[in-house]
Amino acid sequence: MVDIAFIGLGAMGSGMAANLAKAGHRVRAYDLMPASIEAAVAAGCVAAASVGEAVAGAAFVVTMLPTGAHVLDVYQNGEGVLAHAHPDAVFIDCSTISVEDARAAGEFARARGFLMCDAPVSGGVAAAAAGTLTFMVGGTAEEFEKAQPILQAMGKAVIHAGQSGAGQAAKICNNMLLAISMIGTCEAFVLAEKLGLDAKAFFDIASQSSGQSWSMTSYAPVPGLVPTAPSNRDFTNGFAGALMLKDLRLALEATHAVGMTAALALKSEEIYSEYSVKYPPNRDFSGVIDMLRNQ
Ligand code: NAD
Repeated sequence: MVDIAFIGLGAMGSGMAANLAKAGHRVRAYDLMPASIEAAVAAGCVAAASVGEAVAGAAFVVTMLPTGAHVLDVYQNGEGVLAHAHPDAVFIDCSTISVEDARAAGEFARARGFLMCDAPVSGGVAAAAAGTLTFMVGGTAEEFEKAQPILQAMGKAVIHAGQSGAGQAAKICNNMLLAISMIGTCEAFVLAEKLGLDAKAFFDIASQSSGQSWSMTSYAPVPGLVPTAPSNRDFTNGFAGALMLKDLRLALEATHAVGMTAALALKSEEIYSEYSVKYPPNRDFSGVIDMLRNQ
């Protein structure tokens, strides 16, 4: 049992903090929203009135915040994490942020003698609540080893991706590929439909042919093919199109930083920008099939 500060109790952080408490850790929970702190207390955490109060004396400081700007602010501002942390504390940031921001947060922490990992997740709100997230971790071997048992209490897999920032690099490369493969899968289903090919027949063939992908066989954008896919529930309770757009923009930011052109990522960003204007931002990203069908 260790003392853990958990900062950011939103859609993802609420379930993750609850799982750390369930595993027997003393979790001091803080969020800007008082209602989120109350919910964390009901799930077994202890309320903290500020970042400083959450962090004081904690062996680990876990953050699950919206963007890199939030993470850097919570780390660096005078009332923040670094001003109050115990010298032996290990920082674990699970938010999805840019590689550049992750490296900046790591450098800032290490320059003051702390250990820090970037540990973004794969899996949505349901996996956060069930404790079945996958963590991709950037940091030294020592940082990874220290963070691993804490991450294991919130997930089913914890993978060391490499040095600082490598966790975020893995996350955005994976999601860039997912966006491209989902759009391709949707276009193939729409063309099949327009050619009069039955969706089930196309699915049975493509899922055993070279067109097979996770977007096809685990997340088919057409209902009645993969029982757990959001297409069966009108694209609710899935991975929001707005979050896919956020991840694509982080990927494009990274392509600019390394001087690379990624034509399909650029086109995917254009398509998901349009999707998040024309449809509710929390609608699942595979629902982009409706927009492509109507074009
Ligand atoms: P969210 O907006 O539901 O939660 C973020 C929480 O952070 C909010 O409760 C907010 O009040 C709190 N917060 C913001 N600034 C704060 C501060 N200074 N101090 C304390 N609390 C603060 O977001 P989420 O869906 O939980 O996502 C969190 C991160 O996880 C994001 O980076 C997102 O991209 C990533 N992610 C989300 C999903 C998903 O399905 N929701 C999946 C994978 C990764």
